Amino acid sequence: MACYALTGGATGIGAAIKQRLRGEGNQVIVVDIKDADIVADLSSKDGRMAAIAALRDTAAAGLDGLITCAGLGSNVSNHKLITQVNYFGSVELIEGLKDLLAAKRGSIVMISSNSAPMNNTPEFVDLLLSGEEEKATEFSATIAAQEVYSGTKKAVAQWMRSNVVDYAAAGVRMNAIAPGYTQTPMTEQVENDPTYGPAIKEFMGSIPVGFPGKPEDQAAATSFLLGPEARFICGSVLFVDGGHDAMFRPSQV
Ligand code: NAD
Repeated sequence: MACYALTGGATGIGAAIKQRLRGEGNQVIVVDIKDADIVADLSSKDGRMAAIAALRDTAAAGLDGLITCAGLGSNVSNHKLITQVNYFGSVELIEGLKDLLAAKRGSIVMISSNSAPMNNTPEFVDLLLSGEEEKATEFSATIAAQEVYSGTKKAVAQWMRSNVVDYAAAGVRMNAIAPGYTQTPMTEQVENDPTYGPAIKEFMGSIPVGFPGKPEDQAAATSFLLGPEARFICGSVLFVDGGHDAMFRPSQV
C-alpha cells in the first residue's frame, strides 16, 4: 500500500483521483479547504505551512507520491486568489515535502492545463517563477482572468520541468498532466452561465474525440504517472484533452 498526499481532493478531478487511488488499495491523505483529512487554506503561506506540518505528522515515514490538484478557475473574480492557490499552493507544498518524497523515492504529479500554451503574459509567468508572491499577486490584478489562470498553469508546468533534474537526483520523479475541458463543479458554473454558457458549449463541441472529459479520465492518467510502470517518464506534460491541444497547435511537438 502506497501513501499519497493529494491537494484539492474534495471535489471534481481531485475527488476522482482520491477515489481511484484508494480503490487501488492506497492510503490517500487529502488536503483541502473543505471535506479533507487536513483542512487548510492553500491560498496563504500560513495555510500551506500548516498543511506541510500536518502531513509531516501523518506521513512521518515518507510519501510515495504527491498530487497538487487544488485550483481555482478563471470564473473566480479574485485574481490574487487564483494566483496564490494555483501556483504558490502547488510549488510551496512540493518544496516543503521534498525530503518526505525522497525518503520513499516517491513521485509527483502536478495539475497544469491545456490552456497553459495559450498564455500571452510571459511577464506574469516570469514573476511567478521568480517566487515573488506579493509582486505576482499584485500583477495578477491588472490582467484578464484567463491570462491569470493560463499563466499560473504555464508556470506550474515550467517550474516542474526546471526542477526535474534536481528532484530526480533526490530520487523523486515529477510530471504534470494538462487536462482539457473536464466536467466538474468548476466548469459547471461557467456552462450554466447565461453569458458564457453558449460559447462554452460550442467549445465543448469542438473537442476532436467528440465528448468532454470526465474527472475519471484525469484520475486514470494521474494513477499511471504515479505508478511503477511510468518509472522512466520524468519531466513530461501529458495532455489529457481529447485532442484539443493537437488541434490548436498541430506543429508543436
Ligand atoms: P473543482 O473546483 O471541482 O476542485 C478544486 C478543488 O480545489 C476543490 O476541492 C476545492 O475545495 C480546492 N480548493 C480551492 N481553493 C482552495 C484553497 N484555497 N485551499 C485548499 N483547497 C482549495 O475543480 P476541478 O475542475 O476538479 O479542478 C481541479 C484542478 O484541475 C485545478 O487545478 C484546475 O485548474 C485543473 N483543471 C481543470 C480543468 C477542467 O476542465 N475541469 C481543466 C484544466 C485544469
